[in-house]
Amino acid sequence: MIHFLDLKKQYESIRSEINAAIQEVLDETAFVGGSFVKKFESEFAAYLGANHVVGVGNGTDALEIAIRALALPPGGEIIVPANSFVASAEAVCNMGHRVVFCDCDPGTLTLDVEDVKRRVTKNTVAVMAVHLYGHPANMVPLQAVAKEHGLKIIEDAAQAHGAEYSGKNVGTLGDVAAFSFYPGKNLGAYGDAGAIVTNNEDLATKARMLANHGRINKYDHLMVGRNSRLDGMQAAVLSVKLKHLDAWNERRRQVASWYFDGLSDFQEMSLIQVAPWAKPVFHLFPVRVRDRDALREYLASQGTETGIHYPVALPKLKAFEKTGQSSESMRANLLDGNLLSLPMGEHLGENEVQAVIRQIRSFLMSGRHS
Ligand SMILES: *Cc1c(COP(=O)(O)O)cnc(C)c1O
Repeated sequence: MIHFLDLKKQYESIRSEINAAIQEVLDETAFVGGSFVKKFESEFAAYLGANHVVGVGNGTDALEIAIRALALPPGGEIIVPANSFVASAEAVCNMGHRVVFCDCDPGTLTLDVEDVKRRVTKNTVAVMAVHLYGHPANMVPLQAVAKEHGLKIIEDAAQAHGAEYSGKNVGTLGDVAAFSFYPGKNLGAYGDAGAIVTNNEDLATKARMLANHGRINKYDHLMVGRNSRLDGMQAAVLSVKLKHLDAWNERRRQVASWYFDGLSDFQEMSLIQVAPWAKPVFHLFPVRVRDRDALREYLASQGTETGIHYPVALPKLKAFEKTGQSSESMRANLLDGNLLSLPMGEHLGENEVQAVIRQIRSFLMSGRHS
């Protein structure tokens, strides 16, 4: 069996460190906020080269609180890539803004800056740069568009812990960024967790207040906030795992390079193109293939797990019917039937990756597909 993701194997490799860290939280009963959260926030800030990290309950909350902290005009339009996880668009709607979807780039499948330009109107207030699949969005041209039109940039870095754009960490390239530490992410907690990252001190203070009932001091509620805090156990787990992140990301890049070497020569299948300015972290490794469902079934029959990210482009989901963009002939609306995510993660060895490659080659060469 070749697993898509193997959190158990990862835990076993760091079991004693994790168990000791959790025991420490228990001994100090620092369950919500407190010293372990502070410690992780400053470690993650140092890792990213960012001034402020605010731990929150999950990545979706991080996006919502980041958007609210920006205090954008109510009802303003925020441009979101049509190829993303639902939370990117959901957060925009939940904060009282309008989603306008933009297309994805044919090579990287992250947002297409040319299409962002076409979607800007007088009501546009921000754009969400999703570093999808662990590949950074094309930030420099996007920053130019944002500057020209006075737009804020919200980075959705939920899939891209440690990814770099021209040597800079994603999460430090917009006005504010959101990270998710959902267990399956490159840096994952043992439950839900997330963080807001910014270099803007006022924004950080505001986000911290919004996430904690609008207060800084215990009963001094300065605004109507909410409860979305990072808890001590998750922070302690994240501090342990942060030390391993670079090595795990390096292994993901190695797995990707085996896939690139083994699978680049088929017309029927195309791989992500890594942009010259990108150091990706391959949260996922999607391929586009004509007979996606048949290949997926064949791989399953050979014991190889795969995923689909994402099976329905966001404009076509009922939840976003109101955007009226479901039948636009944009690339993102057309490619969802062809996407297949291959096993990816630090759990994979060369033998397993070569086995997946052999299975795919044999499927594509056997004419089992139409
Ligand atoms: C996982 C994810 C989120 C949401 O994070 P949660 O912690 O699950 O709320 C947002 N955006 C993207 C692109 C994601 O992959």
